[in-house]
Amino acid sequence: MIGRHQSTVTDYVQRGIFPNAYLADDIGNHQTFKVPKSDVLRYLNDPLHSLDSRIRQAAQAWLAVRTNDGQDSIGYLDLEDFEFEGTRLPLKSRQRGIWKPRQLKAALSISTTFRRPGEDRPYEDEVGPDGMLRYKWQGDDAEASDNRALRTAMHEGLPLIWFFGVAPGLFQPVFPVFLIDEEVESQQFIVDIDPQRVLLDSDAGPESPMEIAVIKRYGTRIARTRLHQRLFRSTVLHAYGTSCAICNLKHKVLLDAAHIIPDTEEDGVPTVVNGMAMCKIHHAAFDSKILGVRPDLIVEIRTDILAEVDGPMLRYGLQERHRQPLMSVPSKRAERPSRSLLEVAYARFREA
Ligand SMILES: [Zn+2]
Repeated sequence: MIGRHQSTVTDYVQRGIFPNAYLADDIGNHQTFKVPKSDVLRYLNDPLHSLDSRIRQAAQAWLAVRTNDGQDSIGYLDLEDFEFEGTRLPLKSRQRGIWKPRQLKAALSISTTFRRPGEDRPYEDEVGPDGMLRYKWQGDDAEASDNRALRTAMHEGLPLIWFFGVAPGLFQPVFPVFLIDEEVESQQFIVDIDPQRVLLDSDAGPESPMEIAVIKRYGTRIARTRLHQRLFRSTVLHAYGTSCAICNLKHKVLLDAAHIIPDTEEDGVPTVVNGMAMCKIHHAAFDSKILGVRPDLIVEIRTDILAEVDGPMLRYGLQERHRQPLMSVPSKRAERPSRSLLEVAYARFREA
């Protein structure tokens, strides 16, 4: 028995896991097919059906629904709402980075605290020479309960959720992630954030080990880029109060985090000062230099576009924004666009 809400055989039958079984009520009214106890035990002993595994699966499914499959961030208070079989089971601890609910045998989630812009180059320091991300132990003691909880997850190959802080109390979840090794001398675990990796371990994958290594490294890089993009989007959208900097549109599905300097360039780092929240139209207009933003945060529209005559999108959406200030700017000065990055982008707009 683990915890208060350990399922009984009755629960399993009622949930239809043994479809041919019925339970007799107290006076024996129901027809009853008995499930052999050995069948039930075999079912419960299968790692896929264990309480631990079912909680993990339910937690990830719940999170996927609330975060648009991990695309959107989620607030701490919402993370306390997860319930499993009627019992609240927070997905993250308020105080600790490593979280193991008492119902589980291993850690369920890990967290990386939000860092304000300029405090550190975000996340770069956590990448090892193999391109994989690292997660530090809690403290120095290898045998501390939190570190043991992670080690168990590693040994049993259990999926974890990684919460990256993108603002105080706001997190970008990445799941599932797996711990694939431990570097004891550096007091850290190696985290695989690319679940497709498993595909490469199957028999159907490429034949030569070198080919596999290349694909794995490539896959890791793609997964890390996607992670950075998601963190960038969540951080920027939050900083702009989820509204377009140019027109104030507030529909998240229509919003992007635009890079001031493209991420294909060295200066195009995925930090909030290189970003502006923009709706799809204004993002595309900015990238194609139809629209520019001056270093003093005034919008400009390219001269030839100002001369056109067309429908409302051109008139209200573009022409009337000319020489207007941004409609949405981060309230925190440290999160506003970098002046030097805007100068570079604005000079390119002028040349266009
Ligand atoms: Zn807009």
